[in-house]
Amino acid sequence: MNIQLVDLKKQYLTIKSEIDDAIQNVINETAFIKGKYVKTFENDYAKAIGVKHCISVANGTDAIYIALKALGIGHGDEVITVANSWISTSETITQAGATAVFVDIDPDTYTIDPAKIEEKITNRTKAIIPVHLFGHPCDMDKIVTIAKKHDLQIIEDCAQSHFAEYKKQQVSTFGIAGTFSFFPGKNLGAFGDAGAIVSNDDNFSEKARMIANHGALVKHQHKIEGVNSRLDGLQAAILSVKLTHLNDWTTARNQHASLYNTLFHQANLAEVIPPTINRDCYHAFHLYVIRVKQRGELMTFLKNKGINVAIHYPTPLPFLEAYQYLGHSEHDFPISAQYQHEILSLPMYPELTTDEIEYIVDQIRLFYSN
Ligand SMILES: *Cc1c(COP(=O)(O)O)cnc(C)c1O
Repeated sequence: MNIQLVDLKKQYLTIKSEIDDAIQNVINETAFIKGKYVKTFENDYAKAIGVKHCISVANGTDAIYIALKALGIGHGDEVITVANSWISTSETITQAGATAVFVDIDPDTYTIDPAKIEEKITNRTKAIIPVHLFGHPCDMDKIVTIAKKHDLQIIEDCAQSHFAEYKKQQVSTFGIAGTFSFFPGKNLGAFGDAGAIVSNDDNFSEKARMIANHGALVKHQHKIEGVNSRLDGLQAAILSVKLTHLNDWTTARNQHASLYNTLFHQANLAEVIPPTINRDCYHAFHLYVIRVKQRGELMTFLKNKGINVAIHYPTPLPFLEAYQYLGHSEHDFPISAQYQHEILSLPMYPELTTDEIEYIVDQIRLFYSN
């Protein structure tokens, strides 16, 4: 057995002719930058999410940065986000000129703990960036209520949560904007970097589109300085093909997760805690993350059995060297501090088989029975 954490080759082979045709069409028409394939994908994606606007950008990091800039967030402002995420979530806050203010995670869902948000709000706070980490939607009712009460904007970081739902409503639609990454390993992945911002707000969307395009909506009419953040035609055409399969892939991820959960419950291992799913949520299962004892030894054991695993993330954001200047200690984020030593991501992708999942759980059972 050799089971990858994510197997992009397997996915490509299931849709090879569709993808190859799409790529060839872009080349035939030399529609490399902007052009009809980008327009088509933006329309397809807006429709799939059920929003008015989709602004495609170069990657998911730019999507957050541009959303912040479009809201006028910058110097002197504070933006609240979560202690456990990929660095893009906080890096872009700083890049916009504002200060990242971290909140600990909920012990069950591993997403931002709404009960700990209000104590971090000051008169400088302008926005909250909840991250639907691993594909699990944040507790949006509580976050929306807090945001309304304190007049804060919400930008949802949906880089790991395409098509996830909170109370039957798609994530990315709860605040002014949602941001997506189409990095190859994400649930909807391009063959390179790609990203998007979605919104129902006309003014915000126009501003974001302008910023992403050197501050111009019409060529050579630069109203402001912006950035160069474009989705290219090849990626757009690939994404349009893959988008038609995303529903099935998300269903498959959920089926795999529920098989994993069932097998772990049957195995009844005191050392393993499988993920919980909040009743109100449809999970996107970008990652299947368990918590374990003796993680280091287990990882070595699994590697020797041909099972590739990983940690998301080895160090919570406030404890990274990059944020040393904020002066945080593990005391400030006790759940994140504890979980950083326990979380483990098991293989998760739509093409994973029942046999492979059974093998993985079996090997974990074997490790703890020794
Ligand atoms: C991947 C990711 C991003 C950034 O996306 P890129 O396309 O790699 O720039 C942002 N936030 C989270 C939570 C991510 O997982």
